[in-house]
Amino acid sequence: MMRNTQAATNDWDSSQKCGLSLLNQQLIDVRQELDDLKTALNAHAIVAVTDARGVITQVNETFCQISRYAQHELIGRTHRIINSGQHSKAFFLNLWTTISSGEVWHGEICNRAKDGSLYWMHTTIVPFIGTTGRPERYIAIQADITQRKQAEQQVSHLALHDALTGLPNRVLLAERLQQTMAAIGRNRRFGALMLLDLDNFKDINDRLGHSLGDELLRQVAHRLHHCVCASDTVARVGGDEFVILLNDLDADPGQARVRAHAMAERIQQALASGFNLSGQQVHSSSSIGLLLMGDAEQEQEELMRLADMALYKAKARGRNNVYAFDPQLQAEAQDRASLASDLREALSHEDIGLHLLFQPVVDLLQRPLGWEALLRWQHPTKGLLTPDAFIEQAEQTGLAFPLGQWVLQAACRQLAQWSHVPGAAHWSLAVNVSTRQFQDPLFVSSVQSALESTGASPDLLRLELAESMFLIDIESSILKMQELQVLGVRFALDDLGTGYSSLTCLQRLPLNQLKVDHSFVQGLPGDPGNAAITATILALARALNLKVVAEGVENAAQLGFLRQQGCDAFQGHLFGKPMPASEAERYFMRPKP
Ligand code: C2E
Ligand code: MG
Ligand code: MG
Repeated sequence: MMRNTQAATNDWDSSQKCGLSLLNQQLIDVRQELDDLKTALNAHAIVAVTDARGVITQVNETFCQISRYAQHELIGRTHRIINSGQHSKAFFLNLWTTISSGEVWHGEICNRAKDGSLYWMHTTIVPFIGTTGRPERYIAIQADITQRKQAEQQVSHLALHDALTGLPNRVLLAERLQQTMAAIGRNRRFGALMLLDLDNFKDINDRLGHSLGDELLRQVAHRLHHCVCASDTVARVGGDEFVILLNDLDADPGQARVRAHAMAERIQQALASGFNLSGQQVHSSSSIGLLLMGDAEQEQEELMRLADMALYKAKARGRNNVYAFDPQLQAEAQDRASLASDLREALSHEDIGLHLLFQPVVDLLQRPLGWEALLRWQHPTKGLLTPDAFIEQAEQTGLAFPLGQWVLQAACRQLAQWSHVPGAAHWSLAVNVSTRQFQDPLFVSSVQSALESTGASPDLLRLELAESMFLIDIESSILKMQELQVLGVRFALDDLGTGYSSLTCLQRLPLNQLKVDHSFVQGLPGDPGNAAITATILALARALNLKVVAEGVENAAQLGFLRQQGCDAFQGHLFGKPMPASEAERYFMRPKP
């Protein structure tokens, strides 16, 4: 029994020993397997282990190699040490929400190595759940995908950038423009689009060859890039055509315009200093078309078309010019263009809405010496317009002469009518002449024909000329005036003091009258400057033997001062506002009380 017991014990022992050594062997095998796995993993992957709070507890050698940090620099720190700043907060929030809920996270992360270089990891983070049921550590297994990422980035860079200069191309510009328009809509601030073209690129290219031409474009790109802010875009969209997109200028359109202009000038200056092309010094200027952007609804194509138009205008002005085109100016330009075409239409019909009003010029006893004809236009939609609203437009569109001729005819007709009205037959009539009208070679004959066709007396016609008319060609102006003077026509210099007449000029012109501008009369008698100017003009007129009419007399104090200074003819609301001819006759021929 004893033996049996002993034998049994021995059997158990040996079987246990046998079992233990088997277990041991298995353990050794498992450990070996684990070691092999670890070696294989270390050879292939970048591994980091963190605790539940994300603090690094282990990293493998490959992790250290790629991050360029030593193990002791990493352990005890979080992954923030290698944060590249390339991912948003939302990216990391999503990562942490996934792994802290016990799920595996896969993704691509860009990290920053100790030397500042960026590297990309394909990353799998596995959470290990502890006894509490919550993750107690995480193992990140990562593979280096930097090369693939760089290749991808290069491909997308090539698709979006100009190969020669490295600047954004048309495709990327369109994307940026879209973003800018969206921001304009959101923030209600103005941006600007500039189209820049080198003035003499073709010459340089032809003269120096294409490779130096390319070098010039690269240097231009470089300078442009340095002129703008990081948030702006400089793109190359064609041979020597560049686009500059300024994102966020100002909420106020005026300020935005000023800032855009300043930038355009800065760019032109930056390109104005010479370029060194392989030892050859080359100079180039640029033309810029500028478009202010404030309407988020505008289509990209339309924006580019307008900027292109602006560039075309800049080029048309000659080299080294900036032409700004903004929606407000565009609307105003359209308005002016339609006003000019309405005026053309008005002049080609009989019942045209154009008519003259008459304002009296009176003597010391406030009796009318004559009248000034003042043009009015009853516009079909804009209502009654005074000349300030359309004369300049008429000047710019070749309508000054026909319009002036219409005025001359109407004024001479009126003079002829008054010649038959008792008490009005001696009234003179002053007619304003515009610059282009006066400069027209047919001016003299147009006055003659108005006088002849109406039968008006030339002695009663006064032509009012402005100082600016004599700046261009005083000799031919004098000849014209003399020709008309021979017929009996007289001349007045209007708005005296607002132009740049020299005394010699005044002396040479065959004038009969000076008109003191109402801006000087307005401040009388209190304003010492205005008082001095008026007194000087009156003294000058006396010295030159000319009559003076003071314009814009509105009150008795002004009249008193002017009289005191020796002025003897007056015009202004104090004596009568511009009125129709019929009213003029009634007004000044009514029996005096
Ligand atoms: P102007 O020749 O100096 O004419 C005087 C202007 O002063 C007129 O303005 C008149 O209405 C205004 N005025 C007269 N009295 C007073 C006053 O007491 N106070 C103030 N504040 N203003 C007064 P209007 O009719 O608007 O004409 C403006 C300008 O347009 C004229 O200045 C003249 O240069 C030009 N103009 C008028 N008619 C014609 C025309 O037939 N042809 C051309 N080319 N220009 C004309
Ligand atoms: Mg006048
Ligand atoms: Mg005047």
